[in-house]
Amino acid sequence: SVPVITVDGPSGSGKGTISHAVAKALGFHFLDSGALYRILAYAAQQKGIALDDEPALAELAGKLDIHFPAEGENDVVLLDGVNVGNNIRTEAAGAGASRVAALPAVREALLQRQRDFRQSPGLVADGRDMGTVVFPDAAVKFFLTASAEERARRRFNQLKEKGKESPYEEILADIQARDERDSSRAVAPLKPAQDAIQIDTTSLDIPTTITRVLDAIKN
Ligand code: C5P
Repeated sequence: SVPVITVDGPSGSGKGTISHAVAKALGFHFLDSGALYRILAYAAQQKGIALDDEPALAELAGKLDIHFPAEGENDVVLLDGVNVGNNIRTEAAGAGASRVAALPAVREALLQRQRDFRQSPGLVADGRDMGTVVFPDAAVKFFLTASAEERARRRFNQLKEKGKESPYEEILADIQARDERDSSRAVAPLKPAQDAIQIDTTSLDIPTTITRVLDAIKN
């Protein structure tokens, strides 16, 4: 079957950047599964659906018209043909995503949609449960980590680059709250797959991490 490489980990672990670069290097398709949860939270807010209304959110998740025209090449994500890339990359959208992601019916509704991204010649899937739930038969699984402080520092710099500065202490608190929610939830909690290769990126730069991942795939 079509090979899948999974890259899971907490936000700020570098998995977005790394998995995207790896997909490019391999010529594989790319799935940003977090974007699906972010879009769902965003669409729900637009429609006035509460972020704990499980049946309504699950129904919406099954109906969303989502396209990634450039497969993560840039921030373009189409919802009903409209680019919502900027709207879903905010901290608020991340927090909303993490709330809807805790609902089992929502995860179930998004399961097949995620598996549909598995297309020839291969897929790199970025998320929290790619190796544990969505693609348990993946060819190679990675789990990236980094200290919460380092992840907050990266996020701080990212926001600053975009001209959206926000206090470091707030970012750190947000990251810790999101980690806590993502790892303590009953369904698909954030944890490494048993057969995942774990990489701590706290003191690794991006090129070094990409090289390690590609080397592990080749071996
Ligand atoms: O990766 P990203 O920060 O975009 O994900 C946003 C949120 O979506 C995460 O905090 C997590 O709660 C949820 N998520 C998930 N499972 C995934 C991807 C994201 O639960 N596979």
